[in-house]
Amino acid sequence: MEECVFHASAASVARLDGASVCAGCAMRGVEAKVKAAVERHGMFERGQRVGVALSGGKDSLVLLHITARLKPALGIESLVAITVDEGIKGYRDEAMELARRAASMLHVEHRLVGFRELWGSTLDDAVSLGRVPNPCSTCGVLRRRALDMAARTEGCDVLATGHSMDDNAETILMNILRGEPQRLLRTGAKTAMLEGYVPRVKPLAYLTEREVVLYAYLVGVDFQAEPCPYRGGALRLDILKSLARLEKWYPDARRNLVRAYEMYEKQGGASAKQMLRVCELCGYPSTSTVCKPCQEARRLQGIP
Ligand code: SF4
Repeated sequence: MEECVFHASAASVARLDGASVCAGCAMRGVEAKVKAAVERHGMFERGQRVGVALSGGKDSLVLLHITARLKPALGIESLVAITVDEGIKGYRDEAMELARRAASMLHVEHRLVGFRELWGSTLDDAVSLGRVPNPCSTCGVLRRRALDMAARTEGCDVLATGHSMDDNAETILMNILRGEPQRLLRTGAKTAMLEGYVPRVKPLAYLTEREVVLYAYLVGVDFQAEPCPYRGGALRLDILKSLARLEKWYPDARRNLVRAYEMYEKQGGASAKQMLRVCELCGYPSTSTVCKPCQEARRLQGIP
């Protein structure tokens, strides 16, 4: 039996940062990494009300577990989990139930917000009526907006999302390959503060996917494994496979991508000053006369 390097009497269950550790040390190790990320970027301030984007997938459930456990240590005043119901039959229903159960088990308030309630149509309806040629891209834009609106309604000072280091590395590379450097603005562990938006943070930004899965397993997180039926984006899938291949030869490829981005960000590369005007329909900051979420909401509603 291989032993935990910190507790000789306990069996090792995993390797964390190269060391064999028992279940307790693995959990505390992952939580310590999240706490360090939160403190390093000043993600939360004492007394704040924090919103947690809770989709019901593994990453968001792990985020909820860890923030609930670290709440006293981080001085968080209150937590509210926010779940967006896009209206994807057979997929979101299960995720919402998992999210509801987790929030109730952790004694965290839970708020549901739906595309139908906000824009009068579900994603399924819009797809069946042929209104959205690229459902995943419309959905992604509207999900972000729905989360922000719910976080505002709930009086959140900050909104935490469950993006891991792997997600961030993929997004950085994708935005570079697409030639959309302005989108890098929302890639960092702490999004550049945009007036009019609830500030966003990513407490799992330095956890690898493997560490997220390990924590989910150790805590017994019940999560949805089925992928979304509309999940699209051939480029993201290609990047995911390429990075996995690259990491066989260069084990720190993802970490180094994130580091390179952070250096660029420190030098002022991703400046929030691009958001100079406000959308004429909703009043949110925008780079164009009508913001992307309003354009996508009109598409969802079938408005030309
Ligand atoms: Fe929406 Fe795409 Fe996420 Fe599915 S994968 S919930 S379509 S953003």
